[in-house]
Amino acid sequence: MTVSVATLGFPRIGLRRELKFALESYWAGKSSLAELLSAAAGLRALNWGRQKALGADILPSNDFSLYDHVLDTSALIGAIPPRYDWAGESVDPDLYFAMARGAQHDTARAGCGHAHDTTAMEMTKWFDTNYHFLVPELTAGQSFRIASTKIFDEFSEAKALGYPTRPVLLGPVSWLMLAKGKAVEPLALLPALLETYSEILARLAALGADWVQIDEPCLVLDLTDDQRTAFERTYASLATRGPKLMLTTYFGGLGDNLNLVAELPVHGLHLDLVRAPDQLEPALARLQPHVLLSLGVIDGRNIWRANLPDLYWRLKELAAKRDVVLAPSCSLIHVPVDLALETSLDPEVAQWLSFAAQKVEELAALAKALNEGEDASFAAFAASRIAAVARRTSPKIHDPAVAARIAALDTGGARRAASFAARREAQQKRLGLPAYPTTTIGSFPQTPDIRKARAAHVRGEIDDEAYARYLRAETRAAVKWQEEIGLDVLVHGEFERNDMVQYFGEQLAGFAFTRAGWVQSYGSRCVRPPVLYGDVSRPKTMTVDWWRYAQDQTDRPMKGMLTGPVTILNWSFVRDDQPREASCRQIALAIRDEVQDLETAGAAIVQIDEAALREGLPLRRSEWQHYLNWAVECFRIASSAVRDDTQIHTHMCYSEFNDIIRAIGDMDADVISIETARSQMELLDAFASYAYPNAVGPGVYDIHSPRIPAEREMTDLLALACKHISPEQVWVNPDCGLKTRKWDEVRPALIAMVAAAKSMRARTLVKEAYLAR
Ligand code: GLN
Ligand code: ZN
Repeated sequence: MTVSVATLGFPRIGLRRELKFALESYWAGKSSLAELLSAAAGLRALNWGRQKALGADILPSNDFSLYDHVLDTSALIGAIPPRYDWAGESVDPDLYFAMARGAQHDTARAGCGHAHDTTAMEMTKWFDTNYHFLVPELTAGQSFRIASTKIFDEFSEAKALGYPTRPVLLGPVSWLMLAKGKAVEPLALLPALLETYSEILARLAALGADWVQIDEPCLVLDLTDDQRTAFERTYASLATRGPKLMLTTYFGGLGDNLNLVAELPVHGLHLDLVRAPDQLEPALARLQPHVLLSLGVIDGRNIWRANLPDLYWRLKELAAKRDVVLAPSCSLIHVPVDLALETSLDPEVAQWLSFAAQKVEELAALAKALNEGEDASFAAFAASRIAAVARRTSPKIHDPAVAARIAALDTGGARRAASFAARREAQQKRLGLPAYPTTTIGSFPQTPDIRKARAAHVRGEIDDEAYARYLRAETRAAVKWQEEIGLDVLVHGEFERNDMVQYFGEQLAGFAFTRAGWVQSYGSRCVRPPVLYGDVSRPKTMTVDWWRYAQDQTDRPMKGMLTGPVTILNWSFVRDDQPREASCRQIALAIRDEVQDLETAGAAIVQIDEAALREGLPLRRSEWQHYLNWAVECFRIASSAVRDDTQIHTHMCYSEFNDIIRAIGDMDADVISIETARSQMELLDAFASYAYPNAVGPGVYDIHSPRIPAEREMTDLLALACKHISPEQVWVNPDCGLKTRKWDEVRPALIAMVAAAKSMRARTLVKEAYLAR
């Protein structure tokens, strides 16, 4: 029996983010389309050569993308929203990038006498990853036809270079399930879509593709009967002719969809055995013997080195009985490219890690051992075992003081001492705020000057003191300006922070940072997630000095500003040797220390941002409650140790609260600021029907747009808010932090926002006077 190795997809951005720079240079008009396309072809050739050299047998093609693979699929099947005015035969790069990023037409080109914009397609997170895809849009009368030759071209390109490949194609049911349509039921479009998919598969077969990797990640979700039927119809029609299909599932187990999948007439099935190791047994019991199994045994979502001897013993018996493919659990686009670039990581931590290139090597070593006997991979196995033992026992990971604190923690007991009503009174006595209090979410513009100063400081061109002096001047100016325009609760502006997670991670024990561990977030944007490798503690205060400096400039309350434990966890690569909630509790204790130190220093208000709480929801509903329970508990561990008259704020920048409103209530923050400007306060419905008692700051200024809102718009929004929740609950603030905006936009917008709050107060006074008559 043979064991072979597949990769499912390799990072497209390049070893040193070459794709990012090629794209951004093209968008800026600094290079030609030919230059961009040749850079892209170069990256693909490198990736194929690299994966082959590292030991992959089955190479993917069409895993590359100039922006996003879901957008590529929409282009392939000609699902172009009507606003792009598409009349062409095939999707050209201008149209493709307009769909991805929006397009500004100048007057001359648009030819209609005035400038107008075509907005980009909506972007959202790809399952529970931090990768964003462009949401397919469907319109009434939607039809499909092959409108991009990318998948065929890249297959042929690889073939010409001497690499037979297995093209990657997003499956039709998942594509439809990810799509949004006005007045269309997506699944009703399935028959039409299947015709186009059949053509695509036939064309790939004609070019010489004997297998296609067809991705259906939606098979790990809760499915309705209609969706199940859609899968049955799809594979009854697609799997019976054309190339063999490797039906690829990832990000979870098939669970109750196993019976459905086992009946589909596909030739191969890929299972995620990292997220769901227990699904192998039942899958083996249910699957036909001729189905080629692809085992996702190496973690495609995390950066830990595998324990190869362990995996070997797990797979040995199975590999002797049937042919198998070994693969990462999912495409490798979710991990950084190559650990070899990390020259400044602590070597002890580095030996525990494995990035995309190393993961292919691990798969190859494992396959070799399974094919030829354990000794064939002696060196790799020995190194892997040594690293695993070292990691298990390292004092860098295990801090007895943290363990003792966690053991002493009264889980579930973390609660504010007094009820919200009592706290509210105590806080009002201390703060004396007017009705409709005004504040901002924390950050002020990160100007090019600030970025320059930070970069110069990182490079060592300006010393700590010069940098701090510069940041103090910025902070002072921001505080003074907030006072001048009459904001009630001030912020220091976060000028000293590079990123809301990295800033804290860098100061906490247990976190490491890579130099080049970039992962694609969307398009040309990449992030470098922190690596949470060990027990977390806070060696010393992290924000108190900056808070004190800012508070010293003013008599108004200055908010302490922290990132919450759940958000720090969700935006990092985290430990796989303990449950996520265990890591989160440790972070929560560290944040709790900081909250208390801020309080002791005199802060009357502390904000703990939980921007990523909602996106951490598991893919299956049955797992939501468990997640929400520990997420809320962690927030409360961080926030509950304060006095009654210390006000805790939290912030969440999204507008979908129906699913989590109960959890929001349980978090029991005194004030929560949320995103609402674009949805016309609709999301307050969730707060209203839950009868949410604490204070809410519904964002009245959409900071995602350069547009400056008028005072009137904001009073209208506030009046609208008062229809959903009681006026006494309402705070006045923007949707989110202002770091991405320019001061020229922020100044007039906040002046208008303060005016809007004042006009609401005046209205209340008039109303009270009227009622008192
Ligand atoms: N306090 C942070 C800021 O203002 C919050 C950012 C966020 O929610 N994403 O930038
Ligand atoms: Zn936000």
